[in-house]
Amino acid sequence: MSAVRVAPPETLEAYSAATASCTRCRLAQGRTQVVFGAGNPRADLMFVGEAPGFHEDKQGVPFVGQAGKLLDRLLAGVDLRREDVYIANVLKCRPPGNRDPQPDEIESCEPHLFRQIELIEPKVIATLGNFATKLLSGRPLGITRVHGQEQELTIAGRTVLLYPIYHPAAALYTPAMLKVLEADFARLPGLLGTAAVSAEEPASDNLSQALSAPAEQLGLF
Ligand code: URA
Repeated sequence: MSAVRVAPPETLEAYSAATASCTRCRLAQGRTQVVFGAGNPRADLMFVGEAPGFHEDKQGVPFVGQAGKLLDRLLAGVDLRREDVYIANVLKCRPPGNRDPQPDEIESCEPHLFRQIELIEPKVIATLGNFATKLLSGRPLGITRVHGQEQELTIAGRTVLLYPIYHPAAALYTPAMLKVLEADFARLPGLLGTAAVSAEEPASDNLSQALSAPAEQLGLF
């Protein structure tokens, strides 16, 4: 009988350490450091933003600037702290001048995000804004159209509830958008309950398809 070699399960910490020296795209040249993600590695709720900004690049932690302070307030509003959730971005390195992520950068970086999702196994993924929403839904529909509409998807055989909401940066100076974001946030505890109950039920396969489709084919841009 031949022995089958089984690789030990990789931890999020080990994957983060391996990612610290990533040179998959041009953003490696201008970054201070890779901003991998932060929070509870076994979180039921994961947030996915766009890309690190100036402060995130300096500190190595996602959402520590103005948008991050608003995210903290929104979390507190539903009785959650950063330590309860996991926060990551589509891109792990800061684009120069905080410009939008480019298609080839998203394509290079997406294996990191998908591996994070596999290792964390969240029940609900709240996508913050257009980039994360389009990438993980595998659909070109913008956030104005789909915010607040949860969708069941499957990744690596596990059910995930994808929940698109506005990016906190968009709500910083627009009170009407902040109201919508607060209302969408208020549904998170209920969705977490729902996700826990329906975790065993079959779901559609969009996210698995997204895993194998190049970013440009997803109509991201
Ligand atoms: N905006 C993002 O999308 N991510 C961050 O980490 C900070 C601001």
